[in-house]
Amino acid sequence: VPLVLTDFLDRAVELYGDKVAIIDDEKRLTYKQLGDRVNQLARGLKEFGIEKGDKVAYLAPNTTEMLEGFYGVYSVGGVMTPLNTRLKPADYQFILTHSESKALFVDEELYPLVQPILPKVPHLKHVVIHGNTRDGHRGYDEWRGSFSREPFSRAELEETDIASLLYTSGTTGDPKGVLLTHRSNYLHALSSMHHLRVTDQDTLLHVLPMFHVNGWGSPFYYTANGATQVMLRKVDPEVILDKVEKHDVTVMHMAPTVLNMLLESYPDRDRSTGKNIRVVIAGSAPPPAFVRKVEENLKWEFIQVYGMTEISPLITTSILRSSEQDRPKEETYRLKAKAGYSMIGSRVKVVNELGEEVLHDGKAIGEIVTRTNTVMEGYYKNPEATNQTIREGWLHTGDMATVDEDGYIEIVDRMKDVIISGGENISSIEVEGALYEHDGVLEAAVVAIPHERWGEVPHAVVVLRDGHILTEQDLIDFTREKLAHFKAPKSITFAKELPKTASGKIQKVVIRKEFWKDHDR
Ligand code: ATP
Ligand code: MG
Repeated sequence: VPLVLTDFLDRAVELYGDKVAIIDDEKRLTYKQLGDRVNQLARGLKEFGIEKGDKVAYLAPNTTEMLEGFYGVYSVGGVMTPLNTRLKPADYQFILTHSESKALFVDEELYPLVQPILPKVPHLKHVVIHGNTRDGHRGYDEWRGSFSREPFSRAELEETDIASLLYTSGTTGDPKGVLLTHRSNYLHALSSMHHLRVTDQDTLLHVLPMFHVNGWGSPFYYTANGATQVMLRKVDPEVILDKVEKHDVTVMHMAPTVLNMLLESYPDRDRSTGKNIRVVIAGSAPPPAFVRKVEENLKWEFIQVYGMTEISPLITTSILRSSEQDRPKEETYRLKAKAGYSMIGSRVKVVNELGEEVLHDGKAIGEIVTRTNTVMEGYYKNPEATNQTIREGWLHTGDMATVDEDGYIEIVDRMKDVIISGGENISSIEVEGALYEHDGVLEAAVVAIPHERWGEVPHAVVVLRDGHILTEQDLIDFTREKLAHFKAPKSITFAKELPKTASGKIQKVVIRKEFWKDHDR
């Protein structure tokens, strides 16, 4: 039997048909109802002429329509192509054209973002609005409602067929289109549901946007297990905590930047908020002090995961093994702040320039490479970039890391973010970690800026917590106590906020740009 993603929905409809599948503000749907809606959508897509391999674009926040879109598109063999909701009209024109999308489903509120460029997109034949009919485009519910709910006879698929075309975050440059197969996504879901212990007793709040790979993988494994999925349109700490409280949420995946906002909002809350949360899952290398805050202040278990769009995305996790669980608390926070060890289905190692594994001493630095069941087919229309990334069967992540005696991988930095100062490599993440130890620091980003004598030196941009007044020198002195002097920022500027991607990642490339206008890097 080929590994095809619609299996997950079929299983849920069969085993959990009457259970609540989706809570979307006031709307509730059972798995049976979700299955019915997917059948209707699939018939509509078929009538549009969508066939195996055709791209179907989605521009929507986390909604019922978005989630059922996956299974509807896969039912006809189409390729789900979700679009980041924070792009500019020109970016949408680029992606819709590049992906050759034949149909676009767009949320009513986001429609103005694409309205001006729609006439300029050549392959697009159909636009459906999640909301009311507009400009001659169909309104979703009315259109979908006109089709039968009866079981739909699906396109025949091989597991090596492409399921999704996902664009990377664009943290380090232009987003790249990543082609992922049904097989990769299926095996990723099996591995993730095992490691994260997902069951039908779970209620997931969809904090991470589904249009991005981190949020996009999770509907598969929560659906397969009959969990309840609560939708969230907009990332706002108060709304998150309200929904956590109201729906007895048990699990959330989110960027550490969002968890940080929750830590800020939480003190004003009733202490019972989030008492059912069994775990929160995050990536992006938060410092140990941050893990301590989550576990001690919020009393939520913290799990770190690591991955990238190109590998579906997750390949490592820092869930403690039983042999590590009775170590002193501080030591466990240190371990959980690492990317961890390989998940099932992925071989992961850290290698030097010669391709040899680095020593497991927590010091030697190399690049993370992986051979994984969850690997992409390649970058869409970019074989050169594909061949640079996957070499001799190993995918090169571009992330620098160490491995400790316990075998835990720790991300040192992205290759592009390392600061090379007087021949020494400085990890921007390490410097940020020192800044975060200061109570007054809400957010920090450390980037390389040009320097006549040292080539590059670290510069920090800091957002202060409300009510704290600090000078540049105060913070430089503070970091000098924590770090070797050459690693401490040479200069610091203060900002109200930092530039971020839609998934909440700080875009150091944007910060760096203004300092490198007159220099090559
Ligand atoms: P682009 O490739 O367009 O520049 P991006 O790399 O941010 O954007 P994603 O695929 O969304 O796009 O993110 C993957 C990257 O996120 C990884 O390569 C890594 O640098 C970072 N990352 C993911 N998980 C972690 C983690 N646990 N700790 C540190 N960094 C992480
Ligand atoms: Mg990347």
